[in-house]
Amino acid sequence: MFNASPEELQAVLQQLEQAIYNHEQWYKELNRTLICQLPPDHRDVANDAHRQCRFGQWYYNRAPQKLHDNAAFAAMEGAHERMHRLAARLLQLLETRKIVQPTDYDEFSNALDHLRLQIYTLKHEIEDTLYNRDPLTGVESRVGMLTKLREQLELVKRRIQHCCIAIMDLDNFKVVNDAHGHLAGDRVLTVHARYVMEHVRTYDKVFRYGGEEFLICFPGTDLKTGYTLIERLRQGLAATAVDHGGKAILVTASFGVTLLDPDTSVEESIGRADRALYAAKTAGRNCSRIWDPSM
Ligand code: GH3
Ligand code: MG
Ligand code: MG
Repeated sequence: MFNASPEELQAVLQQLEQAIYNHEQWYKELNRTLICQLPPDHRDVANDAHRQCRFGQWYYNRAPQKLHDNAAFAAMEGAHERMHRLAARLLQLLETRKIVQPTDYDEFSNALDHLRLQIYTLKHEIEDTLYNRDPLTGVESRVGMLTKLREQLELVKRRIQHCCIAIMDLDNFKVVNDAHGHLAGDRVLTVHARYVMEHVRTYDKVFRYGGEEFLICFPGTDLKTGYTLIERLRQGLAATAVDHGGKAILVTASFGVTLLDPDTSVEESIGRADRALYAAKTAGRNCSRIWDPSM
């Protein structure tokens, strides 16, 4: 799911629920027209019927930009347009007093089911992201992390794509708590987690792995690219000052990076990233290390 704050996700979910309701109302009205053989609404037989219905108005005019990058949202477009085209055909048959053949109706009905599947896939994705959030930082909690990594491992095993993972751990974080208090520590944690979330791609995943540790997953990314992305994040974080009562707190992070290995379990790959992280800490912190078998 796209990287949005819990508030944004909640707002999108509400919009989607309203759009689903509007779509169901439209379907009710269509059935009434067909069964009672009433004159069709001119919007339903227009070429751009899919843009004129209330669901379509939301889809094309009001849905937030972030949704447009989501695969499930994009898939709804074709399904919705096709369903309207088939509905228009039924209405045109009715208007010209021709018989609606069962195959015509079935085609429409299947397209309707297909659209519903796409809509509920998106809804499920939003809910899944929303309810599996870490309440403090807003990134995904570790609930579901292994499942999602195992899905990625399956793609790696079938040689479909690489998947790079990294463990990030804030440096000397205990000192931050000791010097500024636990609430200031919470704030640093939140600001840094949000920074990461906002600077990765929409299909990358950020999980809160432990207290001040995060696991970042970069699907479709080789080691070299993954390392470059991580280094960019590391430098960005080092330059991110967190305001605490007029004082700027600067906290760096260290990273351990590896690829999901097709011949190894997800747990062992996480263990490798952890050993690389330990190497980064030993090397003096505020740096990234790629796992190698000597670690
Ligand atoms: P290192 O550079 O080796 O990682 O040092 P460190 O101090 O970050 O590591 P250590 O594991 O000794 O301490 C982690 C600290 O993170 C201790 C713990 O209280 C703090 N911490 C963990 N979760 C939270 C949290 O949710 N909020 C705050 N404020 N602190 C947290
Ligand atoms: Mg730690
Ligand atoms: Mg730490």
